[in-house]
Amino acid sequence: MTLLQIMLKSLTEIIELNGKRLMNFKNSRILKLAAVITVMIIAAYCFLSINKCTQRSIFAMDTYMEITAYGWNSKKAADKAIDEICRLEDMLSTEKTDSEIARINQTKSVNISDETAYLISKSNEISKSTQGAFDITIYPVMRAWGFGSGEYRVPDSVEIKELIKRVDYTRIEYDEAAHKLSIPDEVEIDFGGIAKGYTSDKVAEIMQQYGIKSAILNLGGNVKAVGSKLDGSKWKVAVKSPCDSAQYMGILSVNDTCVITSGGYERFFEKNGKKYHHIIDPDTGLPADSGLISVTVVCNDGTKADALSTALFIMGNEKAQEYWRKHKTEFDMILMDSNEHIYVTEGIEDDFESQYYSVEIIK
Ligand code: ADP
Ligand code: MG
Repeated sequence: MTLLQIMLKSLTEIIELNGKRLMNFKNSRILKLAAVITVMIIAAYCFLSINKCTQRSIFAMDTYMEITAYGWNSKKAADKAIDEICRLEDMLSTEKTDSEIARINQTKSVNISDETAYLISKSNEISKSTQGAFDITIYPVMRAWGFGSGEYRVPDSVEIKELIKRVDYTRIEYDEAAHKLSIPDEVEIDFGGIAKGYTSDKVAEIMQQYGIKSAILNLGGNVKAVGSKLDGSKWKVAVKSPCDSAQYMGILSVNDTCVITSGGYERFFEKNGKKYHHIIDPDTGLPADSGLISVTVVCNDGTKADALSTALFIMGNEKAQEYWRKHKTEFDMILMDSNEHIYVTEGIEDDFESQYYSVEIIK
């Protein structure tokens, strides 16, 4: 029998007793007892509903994703979140031949959805502010390296020189009135550096729609914390160590924000003893070699955090710090350089703890 059925039964018994006007001493005691039990059951039911936890996981966008939501509506919210992830994967994946992005790359001039238009405009914004370190027209270079298809190879310098001529976000044209996006024949787009951040924003919106006050969304290392933990304390997000996948570089405590990490250790291949990773410097066409081995961006806006983590990883420590000083109201960051030294911006200094590494505060 469910809690709700027990509650209803108790209530019915009270009403029946009242109906028969059995108000002698014995029955009034039974009545009181029934009322107390009913209140206790209602309280227990409410408590259990608020604390109800639902977990869902899925392999999507080439990574393992996990949703944990709390609240009486958490099952519905988590199921809807999984649907949303699938919808966005179908829409944004470069590798799916019928996705909106694949259609853009194939036909070069196409009417696009408001969501794609939003992502194009966000990408352009970050591209401009990072002097092109983030550039969604990187796709021809990505493909030449075999990222996406998994057929890895090391393109020679002549090929790379030709390919980087095709990388230039300023050649993307968007006619807002007609919703029409146009790119030159040789240009191709890849949302791989921004799609998961956007997805985390959309999933967080779903949590809000379902009244979820506490959830943690882990989209393959792209974490979005919704509200706080049930007991009101901050979520503790473990930031992976780029040196050892079984270890963490530190723990960050957050409420209601995104924690998004880019690192060369996430996706790479090895050839002749050398590692080649998937974050490409548009200036060289090579896997970025800036001296940073991990960049974590902390920002309410997951879309921005995702694009920024990729860009700052390419820009390197000095330029990333310079960038942060100009935009410090927008985000915080945790950098790790190849000497395994950590740099943390002052906004999150009190919320970050590292057991194993030395930490310097960026002011
Ligand atoms: P992850 O996808 O592992 O979370 P990132 O967010 O850093 O890591 O994104 C890496 C992806 O971004 C690559 O797989 C590729 O699709 C895309 N990408 C690589 N280099 C660039 C770049 N310079 N600008 C924009 N996107 C890039
Ligand atoms: Mg990114």
